[in-house]
Parts: sequence; C-alpha cells; structure tokens
Amino acid sequence: MHAIVVGGGIGGLATAIGLGRRGWDVTVLERQPRLGAIGAGLSLWPNALRALDWLGIGAAVEAAGGRMPERSGMRGADGRYLSRVDMTGHRLVVVHRADLHEILAGALPASVTVRTGVDVTTVDSLDADLVVGADGIRSAVRARYAPNIRIRDSGQVSWRAIVPDDGGLTSGGETVGPRGWRFGAAPAGRRGIYWYVAAPGPLRTGTPQEQLQELRERLGGWHDPIPGLLAATDPAALLHHPLQDLHPVAPMRFGDRVALVGDAAHAMTPNLGQGACQALEDAVTLAALAPDLGRYAALREPRVRRIVDRSWQMGRLVGAKGRLAGAVVRTAARLLPDRAALSSALAVTEWEPPRPEAVTP
Ligand SMILES: Cc1cc2nc3c(=O)[nH]c(=O)nc-3n(C[C@H](O)[C@H](O)[C@H](O)COP(=O)(O)OP(=O)(O)OC[C@H]3O[C@@H](n4cnc5c(N)ncnc54)[C@H](O)[C@@H]3O)c2cc1C
Repeated sequence: MHAIVVGGGIGGLATAIGLGRRGWDVTVLERQPRLGAIGAGLSLWPNALRALDWLGIGAAVEAAGGRMPERSGMRGADGRYLSRVDMTGHRLVVVHRADLHEILAGALPASVTVRTGVDVTTVDSLDADLVVGADGIRSAVRARYAPNIRIRDSGQVSWRAIVPDDGGLTSGGETVGPRGWRFGAAPAGRRGIYWYVAAPGPLRTGTPQEQLQELRERLGGWHDPIPGLLAATDPAALLHHPLQDLHPVAPMRFGDRVALVGDAAHAMTPNLGQGACQALEDAVTLAALAPDLGRYAALREPRVRRIVDRSWQMGRLVGAKGRLAGAVVRTAARLLPDRAALSSALAVTEWEPPRPEAVTP
C-alpha cells in the first residue's frame, strides 16, 4: 500500500513514521527546500507524549525538551497567584520546534521517501492508495475538497522568542494583566527559556526592535522575571503572528482515499497549547486505523471540534480587553480551588492511542 503525505511538518512527519512502521510505503511531499522548522517553543501535554511514545520517540522528545516548573498556575501582573497548579508527576514538556522536527525526521523508517521543494498545487494528480493532507492552515488538499472552510481571525496577536536560560525561572503558567494582555514562559531544554505574549489588537507593522520596545513598555512593571526576559530578547529572534483558527473544523476524510491531519483540518488558537498535540493524536490514530478512514474521522472529528471551540472561548475570555472582563477572569481564577484548576488544565489531555486490538493488522 502506498501513501502520499502532503506536508512535512509535525503532523505529516508523525503520520509518515506511523504509516511506515505499519508497513506502508510513504512519500512525503514538502514545499520547503529542506525539512526543518523555525519557531520557538511548543508545549507538549501528556496526550502528545503518549502519541510520541506510540511512535517510539517519546523519551527522545522528553530528553530534548524542558520540564514545566512544578509550581505553576495563573498569576496577576503583580505576581500574586490567582490559581495554583502543582504539576508534580504530570508529563508536560516544552520543546523547541526545531528539536521536535529533527527527532521526527530522524525516526522516519526506510520505507518513507521525503521529496522537498515540491509545492503541491494539483491534488487530483496525486496517485496513491491514501493521500494525507498535512499541509497546514492554508491546506491545498482541504481547499480542493472543502473550499467552504474559512480562516477565522481572533483579533488577537502573539509574540514569541527564546532567550538564554539564566536559571531565574522558578514557576510556570500564565500571567494575566490588564486589557487582555497575557504572558507565559517555560524552559525549552538546551535552547533556553521560551516566552510568549498574547494580546488583543492588529498585527504590528513596525520593526522587531519597535515591537520589542512596545512589549518592554507594556510589561515593564509586571512581576519578575518578565521584564528581565524581555530585556534579554534579541529582536532578530522575535516571532509575531495573528491568532487564527479554522471555522468550522473541516471534515477529516473525503471518500476512502483522502484524509486530513493537523492544522489542515483544525488549526486552532494556541490558548490550550494543543495544536501540535492534536496533530500528533491525528497522526497516530490515522496510522493505526488506515485504510479505514471512516473510523479515523469518527474518532477524531468530535474531539478536535470540542478542543478548537474550547480554545476559542478561552481566548475570548482571558484576552477580552474590557476592564470588567479582566476583573471577572481574575476573580473567577481566584475562586477556583487548586484541584479544580489542575483538572481543568489537564482535562483535554486525557487521550490514549487506539489500543492494539482496535488496529487492523
Ligand atoms: C503562536 C502559536 C503558538 C503555538 N503553541 C503551541 C503549543 O504550545 N503546543 C501545541 O501543541 N501547538 C502549538 N501551536 C500550534 C502548532 O504550531 C500547530 O498546530 C502545528 O504546527 C501544526 O502542525 P501541522 O504539521 O499540522 O502543520 P504545519 O506545521 O503548518 O506544517 C505544514 C507543512 O506543510 C507544508 N506545506 C504547506 N502547503 C504545502 C503544499 N501545497 N505542498 C507541499 N507542502 C506544503 C509546509 O511547508 C509545512 O512544512 C501554536 C501555534 C501558534 C501560532
């Protein structure tokens, strides 16, 4: 059986590893001249790590990433905890995107061929028993079969960067400040500390230096180590993106031969840190169940729909720029018992790969 996977990102490479391990011949078509990724950190929750275990690389990814500090939770800009989460005993890794890519590429079995520099524009000419669209939020495969699915803009933007780790980060989680501004940071292994800011407003058009200056002014009075992390950031390392998702979520299969994985089907806002985690769940589920695309879609569609919605709602709540909305979020977080905060953070991560007896040999 031969599969063509369009896109050599996280979802595409993971699908290729899984299918290859189950005896498929796989061709990956990637438009970039070489495999790899720029980017910053990615939080990988227990569900993603279970998917990576299934692919045989969970331990390698954990070793490359950084562990979220056990003391975590939501804080106000003055540093006071609004809710506390103790991550002791929970698997949560923050890994640099380039490190994850390298490990995925290194795990491709011999039955997988990667062709880079191939921009797929005509999907109908792809001849294989299975065609997988893993080509991201602007998927050509999705556009061919589900042209009605639109990119939805949240009205919020993000900045991300990695800075050298000076050991000053002793707690994790997110800080919510006034007017919908948010900050989070976590160690990302040997690469240093990963930080992000999310805020309402348009994509900025100024230089990275000017954008960093805006962040330093806006968050300069927030608790440590936030001003220090921003001061240590090299403008050349700053990434700036709009926060978007797909609405509605696309069907995840078209007939018996075409399936979608990852952002191609269900790009989501990053408020739950689940986009890549869900791409990995898709990859493992598809690899386990192919060629039965009906079971694949039946398992995946309801789950990703819930997570996309939840992530969108979360963004609207914590990113609302009105003063009253901010006060409501902070009060609700303060009233939340610690155990409820933990189970809310972990709720979407309760997922297991399809059991071996559920897998068609
Ligand atoms: C600000 C931000 C923070 C995030 N943080 C997290 C996080 O902490 N945790 C998490 O789990 N997720 C996070 N995500 C989401 C995560 O980045 C994505 O969900 C994930 O990268 C999706 O992987 P993918 O393989 O589906 O798509 P992509 O990474 O977009 O890969 C698609 C690949 O297909 C290739 N391609 C596209 N079109 C074609 C074509 N026509 N022909 C050939 N090749 C093509 C592209 O070059 C690319 O290599 C975040 C996203 C953002 C924007």
